[in-house]
Amino acid sequence: MPMLSINPATGQTLQSFSTWQTHEIDAVLNQVEIAQTGWAALGFEQRAGFMRNLAQIFRRRNEEYAHLITEEMGKLLKEARSEVEKCAFGCEYYADHAQAYLSDEVIASDASRSLVVYQPLGTVLCIMPWNFPFWQMIRAAAPALMAGNTVVLKHASNVPRCALALEEAFQQAEFPANTFRTLMISAAQVERVIADQRIAAVTLTGSSAAGRSVAAIAGQHLKKCVLELGGSDPFIVLDDVDIESTAKQALTARLQNMGQSCIAAKRFILAEPIADAFVAQLKALFSQLQSGDPKDDATGIAPMAREDLRTDLHAQVERSIAAGAQRVIGGVFIGVQGAYYAPTILDHVQPGMAAFDEELFGPVAAIVRVNNDEEAIRLANRTHFGLGGSVWTRDSARGEALARQIHAGCTFVNGIVKSDPRLPFGGVKESGYGRELSYHGIREFVNIKTIWIK
Ligand code: NDP
Repeated sequence: MPMLSINPATGQTLQSFSTWQTHEIDAVLNQVEIAQTGWAALGFEQRAGFMRNLAQIFRRRNEEYAHLITEEMGKLLKEARSEVEKCAFGCEYYADHAQAYLSDEVIASDASRSLVVYQPLGTVLCIMPWNFPFWQMIRAAAPALMAGNTVVLKHASNVPRCALALEEAFQQAEFPANTFRTLMISAAQVERVIADQRIAAVTLTGSSAAGRSVAAIAGQHLKKCVLELGGSDPFIVLDDVDIESTAKQALTARLQNMGQSCIAAKRFILAEPIADAFVAQLKALFSQLQSGDPKDDATGIAPMAREDLRTDLHAQVERSIAAGAQRVIGGVFIGVQGAYYAPTILDHVQPGMAAFDEELFGPVAAIVRVNNDEEAIRLANRTHFGLGGSVWTRDSARGEALARQIHAGCTFVNGIVKSDPRLPFGGVKESGYGRELSYHGIREFVNIKTIWIK
């Protein structure tokens, strides 16, 4: 099957790429394995220099890369620009901090000298999704590379041009040859790459289904694995909020990236006293958005990334309505061209409905009404997922108390869930395991090695 780059705003095929044959994969794995020894032998300062070059390239070519992202997966151009800028920040962050995060730790014991050293594992396979086609990759690759590993990328099949552009950016940044390579392979070809003895570890960002498969293969071959999977983040609104400003935040939390984000708010758990007013406000905000060309700054509704993702989302909406959810707005395709889906609000969503139990990876807000804080927490936690969540209240102590009770990798109080290189990122339950970013992320793909000397 060729990989097709299709503009989801128009349905037009932009380019087609053949997937690689086995001998092409083998050749690259060889080169990347050989390159790893030299790369690991460089000091942090030298590696940081290349990483800073890469940051400069992201800044210099921001507009070009942003257009590429928008053409290939449909997001608003202004969001694509921010994504590329975030890549520059991520590169600089690890250039600045990797050495401190991985410096030797001398620890007192019965030895004359004992210490912990952090050494690279080898080559890390990064299996990445299309929703943030640049940032997800840099989030995984920047720490792995700064630790002295080399990286191979298996990108999502619908963003092959982004995959190749990333490889080219590393070349332009003058990284030593084969430090970072893109493999043009399908999901079906991943198993043999994970099994290959030249691959030391694997990290995946994607669906729980892909996570199960990758974890099983990695387990079979006893390879280290980090999984950043889906989420069904609660957005809990308590009875004391300012409704207008919180609804604006809710709009962004739900519709960022056209809802196609693992940490987008998905279940809006509203205190009953403010629920009617909040839903009315959110409906008013949703109804003001106009669909159009995602490159146009006035556009509020971009297409979803793929036609099949829109079809699947619509089926979830229909099943939820059939199970008793009430459609407040949306729930329809927009226009005849492109994968546009109307921003949708479903009210009176409950456990047992698709909108509550499954991840809604698109512009659909599920409203859940509760009578008190205990019920809010109980329902927030009644999900297979555990990635993020947020609590909205004028009382930050009350917010923190609730935030601590949410079973998730992160919970924000009066802020939209976001990833930040300074803070660890990852999930519990079916949202995956392991952490990206901060010092926790860079220590995932290292040998934490004890040295003991008498
Ligand atoms: P997938 O999880 O299928 O794809 C993500 C990446 O994993 C892609 O590179 C894909 O390759 C690869 N992949 C898929 N299946 C396997 C497998 N069995 N073994 C190895 N690699 C695999 O996501 P989809 O694009 O199909 O989106 C479906 C749903 O996944 C979304 O609706 C959303 O719920 C969730 N998702 C979550 C993301 C997140 O940020 N956590 C990101 C993207 C999706 P290929 O493209 O070639 O299939």
